[in-house]
Formats: sequence, structure tokens, C-alpha cells
Amino acid sequence: MQTHFSPEQLSDPMTARSNKVLRTCVHCGFCTATCPTYQVLGDELDSPRGRIYLIKEMLESGRPADAKTVTHIDRCLGCLACMTTCPSGVHYAHLLEHAREHIEQTYRRPAMDRILRWVLKFVLPHPGRFRLALMGARIARPFKALMPDRRLRAMLEMAPKAIPPVSRNDDGQTFPAEGTRRARVALMIGCAQRALNTDINDATIRLLQRAGVEVVIPRDFGCCGALTLHMGQEGDGKARARDSIRRLLAAERDGPLDAVIINTSGCGTTIKDYGHLFKGDAIEADARRVAGLARDVTEFLVGLGLPARTGDQGLGMRVAYHSACSLQHGQQVRAAPKDLLAAMGFAVVEPADPHLCCGSAGTYNLLQPALSSELKARKVATLEAVAPEVIAAGNIGCMMQIGGGTAVPVVHMVELLDWATGGPKPPALGS
Ligand code: SF4
Ligand code: SF4
Repeated sequence: MQTHFSPEQLSDPMTARSNKVLRTCVHCGFCTATCPTYQVLGDELDSPRGRIYLIKEMLESGRPADAKTVTHIDRCLGCLACMTTCPSGVHYAHLLEHAREHIEQTYRRPAMDRILRWVLKFVLPHPGRFRLALMGARIARPFKALMPDRRLRAMLEMAPKAIPPVSRNDDGQTFPAEGTRRARVALMIGCAQRALNTDINDATIRLLQRAGVEVVIPRDFGCCGALTLHMGQEGDGKARARDSIRRLLAAERDGPLDAVIINTSGCGTTIKDYGHLFKGDAIEADARRVAGLARDVTEFLVGLGLPARTGDQGLGMRVAYHSACSLQHGQQVRAAPKDLLAAMGFAVVEPADPHLCCGSAGTYNLLQPALSSELKARKVATLEAVAPEVIAAGNIGCMMQIGGGTAVPVVHMVELLDWATGGPKPPALGS
């Protein structure tokens, strides 16, 4: 694709990067076939190629974003299925990041939009505030019909029926390896995940310890920056990422880390991109160090090897594996989760169209409830069609989204691996 940025525009590193991305696109349109929003809406402007044109025009003109462009960029899930499909290697994620930042800086959103985005930024990255908000949402849920905005109703509907007590396992500390120590890792404990489900970190810690891994929980750990970066709020997102890098590397004072382990794949995609995020910054080397250490928990365990099975619990259980977009497209991790489940004797089945997003996509299900609901219904139908006893995923956002549309229990896959190797039965499977 030809571009026409001025030399002055290209002196901005972000624009120079976007220029390179745009020039790799050959307009072939292969990406439209796997784009969930194009499949639902059938509008070229809601396809990757259409969005790339809109972004190009917006950035080249140097004008503030207009309402039409904002509508179509806001409808993008950021699922990155288009990146997996693109034969030319177009780095759409970086282009989208630039577009969202430009929109936040130049476009004045309607008042309700601004309020909702401010509330999400104020609440979601803070587990304490998020817990309070979830409690408030439970109380307000019976009155949801009175809410003037569909997005507010979606927020009330998304709140889980039960809010788990705080897990002290998420406090800064070190869990020793069982037996001979084979590795030393820091665990990203997440932010929103800690308020919604404490079983995931608990299971991850037990599983890693059993595999001979020393697990460091960094002190006072916050959000990795993914939540606000995805909303185009680069300043806030980078500040949180900077703090995460500092706290993760502090864990190396007592010895080198072999990996930074992530069990929320949405965070993993962002952390693995820290090097790009801080390009030219004073902390670029530290950012690259953390990005280089970052591993999804399944990626890490495939390399290290699982502990042995301890009995026949769950043996042969039919598990539908839902591949989070952030894992399969953002990080290109596809086989590891299924291989681990199969190695533990679960009968792994995959739904049709496994490349398609469930509609969760960070805050997408709260900000775009209509499209998100349609994608959820499609995903749940394909999952239920394979008649699973349980659905397993590697990302809390997907778990909440899919769990809100089916009676089939939904668990994080580390809970199944932990159970098979001696941990407790995942609570979602009942007693
Ligand atoms: S598949 Fe890649 S090269 Fe083709 S239109 Fe889409 S982004 Fe451009
Ligand atoms: S990120 Fe997902 S929704 Fe957005 S253009 Fe690419 S495939 Fe479509």
C-alpha cells in the first residue's frame, strides 16, 4: 500500500512504525475471511482491510479522528485473527494501538462514553475497587431494566453471582519448589482476575511447585497496563507497565528468573510486546528483558514437563478447549494447552471455527454489548455442539464471557492440570 506521510510526520517514531506496517499491506483481503466483526456485520469498514484504510486516512491527514472512523475502530475486537491470516505479515496490532491513541487524543466522545471509559479505567485495574464494584453490581442487578444505557446493563449482567474472598497467595512472597528445584519464576497475578477468580492463581502456584518450580509473587503487584492500553490510554497503560517491569525485575535480586509466568493470556500479549512499547525509552533494556522472559503457563510447562498424574480423577473427561485470541493470535500459542490436557488423559475436543473470538476482548463486552452478545452466542453454540463435560480456557475474560452463556462448567486449564496431578477438584465441577 502506498503511503504519503510528510518527513515531519515520519519523524514521530509511532508514525514511522505505522508507515512501515501500512506499506506491507497488499490489499488482498484474505484477512476479511477470519474477521469476526466482518462475519457478523458484512461491512468492509468493519473488516481489517477497511479499518486499515480508515487508519491510513486518519493518520496521513493529521486531522482529528471523525465519528465514522471511531465507530469502526471501536467495533474492532483487537482479536488479531487478521494477523494470523495475513500472508504479508501486516502487524495490525501496532497499527490499532496507534489509531486508538490518536482517537483518544483528538476525538471528544459523547458524555456517557467518556463516563463509562473513566469508570472502567478507575475500577478494573484495581482489585480492591473492582471487588467493591462487583458487590455494588450484585445489589443493583435486579434494577438493571431501569438503566438508561445498554452498556450499563451489560456491566451489571457480567458481575458474577459469587465474589471469592481475597487469596493471601496473591501477597508478595516466595513459594518453594517441591523436591529438586528445576526453575525459578515470577508469577503475574493479574488485576481483574484476582477479584473475579482466585482459584486460578492458587492452582497455578500448586502446579508449578509440584513441577519443581520456585514461584515468586512480586510485592504490591498491579495491572500490566493491558486494560488501559487497549482503550488507547497510552500514558496510563505505560505507567502501569513501567511499574510492573520494576516489580518483576526486583524479583531477580534474590536470583535470576527463568521465566515470567502468565495465566491471563490477555496480559501475556501485552507483556511480550513491552520491548516495542518502550522502544527508545530509558527502560527499554529492562522492558526487553521482561518481554523475553514472558511465557504463558502452558508454553512454560510444555518445555519443563508436567508432574505425574496421581490418580484417575477426570481421566477421559471430555474437555472442550477454547483458545483465547490473545493466546492463539496474539502469542501464536496453539498446541501447548491441548497437548498438556491430552498428556494428562483428558479427552480434548475443539469447537468449529476455533479461530473466532468469543466477544470478550478485554472491555469490549462492556463497551460493545450487542456485537459481543452475538459473538458469545455463536461461540457457545459451537462449544456445546461438541457435547463437552467441561470447557477449558486460558484467559479469565473468555471464561466469564462463555460462562455467562452456557450451563456447561467453565474452568481455567491450569485447574484441570492441577487436579490431575494432586490438587483439589475445580470448584466449578461441583463436589
Ligand atoms: S490479509 Fe494482510 S495484506 Fe491482505 S488486506 Fe489483510 S492486512 Fe492487507
Ligand atoms: S483484530 Fe479482530 S476484529 Fe479487529 S480487524 Fe482484526 S480480525 Fe477483525
